[in-house]
Amino acid sequence: MRDIYSTFETELSQLRGKQQFRGLREVSGRNLTEIDVQGKRYLNLSSNDYLGLGADRQVLEEFFTSFSRNTPLKYLGMAGSSSRLLTGNNQAYTDLEEYLAAVYKSEAACVFNSGYHANIGILPALSAKHDLVLSDKLNHASIIDGLKLADAHLLLYRHLDYDHLEQLLKKHRNNYRRVFIITETVFSMDGDIADLQRLVQLKRAYDAFLIVDEAHAVGVFGKTGCGICEEQGVIPELDVIVGTFGKALASLGAFAITKSLLKEYLVNKMRSLLFTTALPPVILNWNRFILKKVVGMESKRQKLQALAVRFRRELEAYSLKTGGASQIIPVIIGENLTAVNLAETLQNRGFLLFAIRPPTVPQNTARLRVSLNAEMTWQQIRSIPKAIGEYLRGAGSQESGARSKNGHPGSIAGFDRG
Ligand code: PMP
Repeated sequence: MRDIYSTFETELSQLRGKQQFRGLREVSGRNLTEIDVQGKRYLNLSSNDYLGLGADRQVLEEFFTSFSRNTPLKYLGMAGSSSRLLTGNNQAYTDLEEYLAAVYKSEAACVFNSGYHANIGILPALSAKHDLVLSDKLNHASIIDGLKLADAHLLLYRHLDYDHLEQLLKKHRNNYRRVFIITETVFSMDGDIADLQRLVQLKRAYDAFLIVDEAHAVGVFGKTGCGICEEQGVIPELDVIVGTFGKALASLGAFAITKSLLKEYLVNKMRSLLFTTALPPVILNWNRFILKKVVGMESKRQKLQALAVRFRRELEAYSLKTGGASQIIPVIIGENLTAVNLAETLQNRGFLLFAIRPPTVPQNTARLRVSLNAEMTWQQIRSIPKAIGEYLRGAGSQESGARSKNGHPGSIAGFDRG
């Protein structure tokens, strides 16, 4: 009899052969800046916990000690128990959405189970057959998956190339009923930042909708942590601002800041909101609790950006290729194998960094993605640029020959996208 599992097995061994096999690694402990992976402690330079709140015991204790035996389930319940549209829309949703709308000074906010749910649901709901979506070429996988589910026509514009976007708008605007422009604000693999003022000009000039994904900017940018939209002063101009609670906000869930009309429309049409179990009250209340704290964390935001500026400068001092202007710092290496071997060398020195390779990033731009957190000190990271510089200047070339089998299943050096 034919083994029905054999096709899967063949594909997995092909992935192993291409050094693209992925496995799950157990994380057994963490503190503000470090993490224990498979029994070894590392400085965690691969997390999205940008404010260091994910393992802040003091903040956690403050939240949990606010509960008592008599606290009603509407605050601490662990179960959503049905879709928001049926019986899952507990009061904690209203409290969180009202708070979000107040922070952004917007008409409405709508909370979802995750950023992934938001991105696979919003465009398929809002756009239809005779519409066009213009998407930055480097937008996140969740946006790409949403575009696959949407009936609208899709065109990609070159990354951050707004002249190209304008050419596309000029050429195609009149052929479609509605046009949606969608972009990340801080790009997750490059750490570079969209020019929202320019995008707002284009949106106005060509009568388009503008949707931005602030996943890596919420909590990190803007005076009150609302993100790049706050930093660049364009909150009221944007049609939908997507933020996630899963990164700097140290939780789970996501939200859209939008007009009341669009919120109503999403509640009627967005499948990843309708057909999934609601978040539990305890998470929604934690989200409101942590958001209140993060609004006031301006000094942490400044500290994080200062650390990133210093780290980039140090990389440049060692003639390393970097880019962007945020807490996400790429170190462009080029070849896959060199990047994987370098990541392993740094891991051996206690730095948890991964090689990000094509197809996650363009060919010949394999890189390390360094993501900083506001609790880190310069002392903890200062030796990294020098170590990379020395490795690339040849100290490592012998090593890379000797290690050409790296990326094997036991290695944790190769990883694609978080
Ligand atoms: N948008 C972007 C830009 C992301 O990087 C991610 C996660 N890596 C998401 C959305 C998904 O968010 P979540 O983790 O809340 O599902």
